[in-house]
Amino acid sequence: MTDQLAPDATVVIVGAGLGGVRLAENLRTGGFEGPVVMIGAEEHPPYDRPPLSKNVLTDAAERFDLKPPDFYTDSLVELRTGEHVDSIDTAGKKVAVTRADGSSYEQSYDALALATGLLPRPFPGAEDVAGVFTIRKLEDAERLRAAAGAAKRAVVIGAGFIGCETAASLHTLGLDVTLVEPAETPLAQSVGTTIGKLVTRQHDEKGVSVRAGTGVEEILSDGGKVTGVRLSGGDVVDADIVVVGIGSTPVVDYLDGSGIELASRDVGGGIACNEVGRTSADGVYALGDVANWRDHGGAQKRVEHWNHTVEQAAVVAAALLGTDHAVTAAVPYFWSDQYDLKIQVLGWPKADDDVHVISDDGHKWVAYFSRDGMFTAVAGAGKVGAVMKMRPKLVTPTPIEDVLPD
Ligand SMILES: Cc1cc2nc3c(=O)[nH]c(=O)nc-3n(C[C@H](O)[C@H](O)[C@H](O)COP(=O)(O)OP(=O)(O)OC[C@H]3O[C@@H](n4cnc5c(N)ncnc54)[C@H](O)[C@@H]3O)c2cc1C
Repeated sequence: MTDQLAPDATVVIVGAGLGGVRLAENLRTGGFEGPVVMIGAEEHPPYDRPPLSKNVLTDAAERFDLKPPDFYTDSLVELRTGEHVDSIDTAGKKVAVTRADGSSYEQSYDALALATGLLPRPFPGAEDVAGVFTIRKLEDAERLRAAAGAAKRAVVIGAGFIGCETAASLHTLGLDVTLVEPAETPLAQSVGTTIGKLVTRQHDEKGVSVRAGTGVEEILSDGGKVTGVRLSGGDVVDADIVVVGIGSTPVVDYLDGSGIELASRDVGGGIACNEVGRTSADGVYALGDVANWRDHGGAQKRVEHWNHTVEQAAVVAAALLGTDHAVTAAVPYFWSDQYDLKIQVLGWPKADDDVHVISDDGHKWVAYFSRDGMFTAVAGAGKVGAVMKMRPKLVTPTPIEDVLPD
């Protein structure tokens, strides 16, 4: 089955973030000349999210629009910001939209792409406590930066990539930071404890207190304002601000009643898609953080990384245009900036892979991952060349023995 677009078809994109913008761009560069309408709930023109836990926190002047304003007019992409898609009628091929002023309308589509991203998980019971933050939107980062300016002590709950970056940024702003993580080390769930220990060392060196193997039982407050956290062992850590980085959930509420299939939670949830992003509904695709694509081995998987979203946008555009470029990149990649180090990961690391530290000068390091004797991934901190040069060895199956130094 193909959904190849007629030349005058209308493409509606829900979500004006990275996935939405890249899809619109790919459709135009691929030669599509019909109407492209992009509807985004945020008031801002589309911006990049990775800087929110990095430069946007540490530097008030930083802003990262995904495209210059002219892009939308020059490429005839109708950008409608501050508008929320409330529901989808897949039989009638239209979406119901509410504008910021409360008025509403319906928009018809021939093809529909869903790129609605994630919402951060709040800490249960602390949703309304002043001084408790999550980071997903520009306003979140701006509010956190403003609060950090008047704060001395911060606790970051959750040492995934965003938690680690936020701890580093708050330390850079001069705060006394405690990073709390229930797993044995930071990043343990994604890249395992060997890398987690190297990352812990980096935070230790800067004086960020890493409390791993400890959960947060309660966020403490007085008069509606945060005062600290109580750890699972009973210790209390005082804080003027608390940042919650305990994961996110796919934004799918507007799909209620649409019949569009969701992926089960045990494979990551989100919108169930095939290998090119097609959902269970005719002419409807999903991409980016919200999308759970089938990989070429038949497994469903949802990935929350920048490069992945960019690649999916190219694949969905190709599927819609009926062109051939329907494969995701051979080797997945993501990065994280913490202090002066760029951590990069190339490949398919799993938390329980064998990890071989190839070089470590006490600050910068490189490690290879293997599973069942095969090379699966490379990770490095401050070692761009050493990481990137391994790509060819990951493109084709390679025994780990062939890449380990003698
Ligand atoms: C703080 C932070 C740091 C990150 N750092 C890194 C990093 O270092 N490296 C990396 O690889 N990745 C990083 N990422 C992940 C990367 O930013 C995402 O993978 C990428 O933004 C996904 O793009 P998207 O288009 O799927 O979703 P988003 O960029 O989230 O865009 C979704 C948009 O859809 C809108 N929307 C939702 N529902 C509706 C609706 N019903 N109607 C209309 N609009 C709607 C939302 O308001 C939002 O604007 C980071 C993410 C965050 C939040």
